Formats: sequence, structure tokens, C-alpha cells
Amino acid sequence: MSAAIILMPGKERSVMRRHPWIFAGAVAHLKGRARAGDTVDVLADDGRPLGRAAFSPHSQIRARLWTFDADETVDHAFFKRRVAAAVTAREALPELRGQQGLRLIHGESDGLPGIIADRYGETVVLQLNSAGAEKWRDAIVAALLQATGCARIFERSDSDVRGLEGLEAHTGFLHGDEPAGPVVIEEHGIRLEVDFRGGHKTGFYLDQRENRRLVRELANGRSVLNCFCYTGGFSLQALAGGATQALSIDSSGPALEAAQRNLAMNPQLPARRAEWRDADVFEELRALKKAGARFDLIILDPPKFAPSAAHAARAARAYKDINLLGFRLLNPGGLLMTYSCSGGIGLELFQKIVAGAAGDAGADARILRRLSAAPDHPVALAFPEGEYLKGLLCQAV
Ligand code: SAH
Repeated sequence: MSAAIILMPGKERSVMRRHPWIFAGAVAHLKGRARAGDTVDVLADDGRPLGRAAFSPHSQIRARLWTFDADETVDHAFFKRRVAAAVTAREALPELRGQQGLRLIHGESDGLPGIIADRYGETVVLQLNSAGAEKWRDAIVAALLQATGCARIFERSDSDVRGLEGLEAHTGFLHGDEPAGPVVIEEHGIRLEVDFRGGHKTGFYLDQRENRRLVRELANGRSVLNCFCYTGGFSLQALAGGATQALSIDSSGPALEAAQRNLAMNPQLPARRAEWRDADVFEELRALKKAGARFDLIILDPPKFAPSAAHAARAARAYKDINLLGFRLLNPGGLLMTYSCSGGIGLELFQKIVAGAAGDAGADARILRRLSAAPDHPVALAFPEGEYLKGLLCQAV
């Protein structure tokens, strides 16, 4: 018989609403013995079975539910079913079909807590972020191979959150080996190199795919400033869309080098309209203002300033600062596309911060669109925590 977690009275409610996390404080006791990653039954305080979860003794998230069906067995077949369902769900969406860069598994929202899988052509990059995911590595790899037929699977389990689960970093090939050359994907007709070994996340920000297309649609005849440009995804789409210039800023030398290689891989683009600046965005925006620069479309896609709600206050000041400077650098009628990928800052708060920034900049601005992650990064309704990326497209009068 497997071990069981007995919940405190009342704590079954969130599980019954299909929220997959059980916090340490919700656990009354553990019946039997379980090690990190073991599958345990989850029982309400009156003994009612609620589902099965992965036990994680070192984490504040003490267990993550694999299934809300107390009779479902968590085994190799379970992962085959769940992984196949995630892959099929993407194939069913016309806008995702045929994408070379695609998130196949988006953790909790795909019923696979702690598991991220991104596909770049023939390479799948896997990130395991929980004790339960770690335990089922072989089953997940087998399921991915069966569902995708990909040539190789590379593990990039080196995110900070592994530490919270008591897990060491782990990277390397789990199937197949080195590709013959760089891994390159095409996105909206633009070729991009993906550094799956050392790049951010699994190598690329797939979540901004739809928003990069929007930039392409908006860019015609506009001067573009792309802040936090990473490997140039937004910049290249802006050039493809007819931007008169694209100035891109990032403080990472390797990211800027990759961006320039990406530009060179797309000889159809007007390379002389691109300029790359290795600088701190906070400082560079001030320098641009001082120099009297102005732009028609400004993109602000900073890193996560607030990893959790505890960092929200300091993060809010940083968001306000760059958005204020952004509004000051806009031409009349100009567009500000601004993002936060901080889980600790919700859409409502983000919108308030941006409104405050516009006010302080003396800008009369309105929201044209609310933006989010692409649909291969779905958000389970029962798991609002999965919604991390939020953006606003604002126009200054
Ligand atoms: N928009 C990009 C992703 C941005 S990720 C895309 O669509 O691909 C955030 C980027 O901000 C990273 O490349 C990181 O190097 C850069 N960065 C972080 N802090 C910075 C700072 N203070 N100034 C400039 N760049 C910074």
C-alpha cells in the first residue's frame, strides 16, 4: 500500500477545485513512509480519497497532484497518456501546427506538474523542476520520444527552483547526441539560432511568439527601440515588418552576438537599419532621453524583477522606472509594448504601475491591447499561478 498524505480539515477544498499544489501547512500528517518524488495518496481529513500526488519533503509545496482520480495509477502508461495529450492539444491548434519552436508541455497547466518540454525542430529540451518529475525522468523521456519522434532530448534542469525541491542541477543528453550544427528554428519566416545548452530558459522565449508577430504587423514605417532584446527576436520581426530603424539593447554580450548571427542568417532583412547596444537598459534609456532621441515603437520585455510576491515592491519601482522612461521617449502617437513576466506582479498591479508611469511622464496614453503568452503556454483555470506573462500595448496621444 502506498503512503498517504492526510490533509488538515478544510484543506481538501482547493484540491477538489483541482488545484495541484499542497502546501506544507495543509498537511496534517503523512501516513506510512515516502521519499522525495514517491507517489502518495491524498486524503481529506475524513479519509475521503482525493487523488495521487508526488511527495516533496524539502519543498514548501509538499506535494503536487498527478491526478485527481484516486483510482488512476501513476506509471509509465500514465505519462504516455498525459504527454500524448499535451502534444496532441498543440497539433489541434492551427496557429501552433507546424511551428518549429513550440512548448509541448507547460507543467501544471498540462497536468504534468514541474515538467517543461520545448521543441526546437528535432531537438526537445526538457526541464524537470520537482521531485516527482525527477523521479519519472525515464517515463517522461520514453513518452516524449513516442509522441514526437524527435531525434534528441536534452535535459536543461538547471533552474533556481530545483534548489527549493532539494534537487541538484542536471544537464545533458537523455536521448540522441550532438546535432551536426547549430539548432535553428524558423518563426514567422525568420531564422533563429537556439542555444539549448546555455541560452536562457530552454534556449529561447517561445512565450513571446504571437507578440513578435504583432510587432512585425505594427512596425511598418516606425522607428523601433527594443529593450532587453536577448537574441533579437522582436528586433528581427520589426525589420521584417518594415521598421525604419531597430535599436536593440541588452546587457548580455553573448545574447547580442547571437542576435547579430541571427540577423546575418536572414539576408532578406535590411541589416543596415539594425543597431545593437551592449548596455544597461536603465542607464541607456536615460542617455537616449538626454540625447533627445525619440521612437515610434518601444518594446520593454525585462527579466523577472519579482520572482515572488515578496519582491513586488522593489520590482514595482523598477517597472515604473523603465516605463516612465519609455513614455518619455515616445513620439506623439507612438506605441509602447510593455511586459512583466513576474509571477509576483498581477495584471491589475502591472496596469497600475504603467498608468503611474504614464502619469508621471505627462503622457496621455491608452491601452490598445492586453497581451499574454502564446497558446502553447496555456493556463489551467484551476491554476491561475500559471499566468506569469502579461503585457500592454499602449498608445500615447
Ligand atoms: N524579448 C526577448 C526576451 C528578453 S529576456 C525575446 O523575445 O527573446 C530579458 C533580457 O534582458 C535578457 O537577454 C537579459 O540579458 C537582459 N537584461 C537583464 N537585465 C538587463 C539590464 N539591466 N539591462 C539590459 N539588459 C538586461
